Amino acid sequence: MVLNGRNSLVALVLLAIAVAGSEVEESSVLSRFQQYLKINTAQPSPRYQEAADFLVSQGKALSLEFQSIELVAGKPLVLLKWEGTNPNLPSILLYSHTDVVPSEHSKWAHHPFSAHLDSNGNIYARGSQDMKCVGMQYLEAIRRLKAERFRPLRSLYLAFSPDEEIGGHDGAEKFARSEIFQGMNVGVVLDEGLASPEDHYRVFYAERSPWWMVIKAVGSPGHGSKLYDNSAMENLLKSIEIITRFRASQFDLVKTGFKAEGDVVSVNMVFLKAGTPSPTGFVMNLQPSEAEAGFDIRLPPTADPESLERRIAEEWAPSSRNMSFSFKQKARTCDKSGKPILTKTDPSNPWWALLENAVQKAGGKIGKPEVFPAATDSRYFRERGLPAIGFSPMANTPVLLHDHNEFLHKDEYLKGIKIYESIIEAYASLDHQGRDGGSRDEL
Ligand SMILES: [Zn+2]
Repeated sequence: MVLNGRNSLVALVLLAIAVAGSEVEESSVLSRFQQYLKINTAQPSPRYQEAADFLVSQGKALSLEFQSIELVAGKPLVLLKWEGTNPNLPSILLYSHTDVVPSEHSKWAHHPFSAHLDSNGNIYARGSQDMKCVGMQYLEAIRRLKAERFRPLRSLYLAFSPDEEIGGHDGAEKFARSEIFQGMNVGVVLDEGLASPEDHYRVFYAERSPWWMVIKAVGSPGHGSKLYDNSAMENLLKSIEIITRFRASQFDLVKTGFKAEGDVVSVNMVFLKAGTPSPTGFVMNLQPSEAEAGFDIRLPPTADPESLERRIAEEWAPSSRNMSFSFKQKARTCDKSGKPILTKTDPSNPWWALLENAVQKAGGKIGKPEVFPAATDSRYFRERGLPAIGFSPMANTPVLLHDHNEFLHKDEYLKGIKIYESIIEAYASLDHQGRDGGSRDEL
């Protein structure tokens, strides 16, 4: 009896120690996340050096090789490496960006750089979803794998890159074209996805290409009281009506559930420029001779860019109506050989199945592969023919990127670490070439 009682007591004490130990571990994991979140890396003046110093210190603590690369002065990209036992195999790139979008502090319940953990377990911070969570989860997953004495077969790289939120031109774009990147022999890239309010994770294999278009109408000026045909305003309005109808037809496909948001062509009017300025506003009795409107158009990789361009020339801005158009940006939807820029999701891409299985093994579910509705840095890797998968493990979470009160629940964050542990283990152990996911050889 006494002995049994003593044994139970020992078991209880051991359990208490284990629980206390895991609580201590949890709080240090969360505190490292909070530390990263507290660094103000908001555009347009991100504190990149502070973030780089923090990330290098994390790399050092994990005995990873590290370098801070300035492809553009003042914009460090931190590259960490865990060398594989067979460094000849293509490597794995765990990619994230360090910058975040600005925030209106007064509209937040907690300061966006306080990384406040509230009593419900939510961590509030700009970047908690987009995408400092992912960058830190990679590191925490590696910490665990190291503690479990896992040895990667393939080399693993972690890149923490600047400027994604302003187009990635001084970040991922230069990095993907650099000699350093060439030397890394990357076989697959993991990059950001989006939160999911459902209990499955979202995963992305492509993204829509932005076309930023300006249409311009010209016409004879005239007295504000006169009715006449073909004024610049009338011509512009006709175009706006036609474009609005097209927009509605695409939006209906989404509303009825026939297509996902990333699978339709979206078009939104972003500016209108017309009128003759006066000291008090605009001249009211004059019909202007010029009028312009700007549109943000997004094309999925499956859309036919030529037919859209024809539609623009014939219907949206026809010269017969004194209209013209130009592009401020027109991203490619196809590679040089004319194939849509996307990562394959079929069995020809071993990385896709590996990811699905690894997530499932760690207790997660993956939804149907999607086209990311906006642009990410993944495009710079896909353009090079590399498979790139957009994935941020956040289920049961409202999509709050770029919104007020961006937050992530601590349990989702912790679960994401487990998910990456499983993915990294599977990816780093793949023993054949594993190059089939993209079309690198064809470029
Ligand atoms: Zn992002």
